[in-house]
Amino acid sequence: MSEIYVDEMFVGEAAEIMSISDVFPEYRQLRTMGFREGRLVDLLHFDPLITRKLVLRVEGMRLAMGASCAAHIRVRPLKSAYLHLRDMAHYDNLTGCFNRHAAGTVVRQEVERFSSLGLPLALLMADLDHFKRINDTFGHTSGDDVLKSFASLIRQGLRRSDLFCRWGGEEFLILLRGTLKEEALKIAERFRERIASALFPPFNERGAVTVSIGCACLPPGRPLERLIVDADCALYRAKQGGRNRVCLC
Ligand code: GH3
Ligand code: MG
Ligand code: MG
Repeated sequence: MSEIYVDEMFVGEAAEIMSISDVFPEYRQLRTMGFREGRLVDLLHFDPLITRKLVLRVEGMRLAMGASCAAHIRVRPLKSAYLHLRDMAHYDNLTGCFNRHAAGTVVRQEVERFSSLGLPLALLMADLDHFKRINDTFGHTSGDDVLKSFASLIRQGLRRSDLFCRWGGEEFLILLRGTLKEEALKIAERFRERIASALFPPFNERGAVTVSIGCACLPPGRPLERLIVDADCALYRAKQGGRNRVCLC
């Protein structure tokens, strides 16, 4: 019996794995062959709020890649869990980030957990600068494209433990778990720089899109609301200070 990790799942007549993380070395082969529901034994874990990773138990993994394998079908829990979680719509359609609803839940959970463990945690609140102008000048669709590119650039700079959420419009939260103030500031500055030096269509020059970032840190016992107020206050200072900068509360 083996366990494999997959990132996404397509549920149709038969469940076929669309992409499998590199945790499982034979994934390419498995993907080519197709992976039929009859070989699934169990759904062990699916926690899209934290990892988006699905863990399945598969019977006769190597056998399954050959011709024969005993059909051991328990696919129903997999289907319903998957559909249920999809229905809950934790993700923002445009950017693929956690949406505000999910952010409210997962950020709160993590703040409480880290607070009770006495571990550090930082929150970045990022807001695109003069975004309304982009919409007004190039149209809403171009504005959407900028938001997508922004999210993709930020995502490339995230660590595995970071959580990225769309808090509203052109405002995003990045939760840096286990991160102290100095490190959080460095990370925020890297994000700022990454955006300021990127080329965003429809612009032909770098620096046309910038972001202001407010940073707040969690002393144990401080509730989420306080952390958000602090990050917001730091963001306000970054805007007042001229934008395209990082401020600490
Ligand atoms: P500031 O530097 O002070 O943050 O200025 P701003 O123009 O970025 O901020 P403002 O709050 O004035 O405008 C934000 C704009 O973001 C207004 C709103 O129409 C736009 N917006 C919000 N959500 C979306 C979206 O999903 N797509 C697009 N294209 N625009 C959006
Ligand atoms: Mg803005
Ligand atoms: Mg805003």
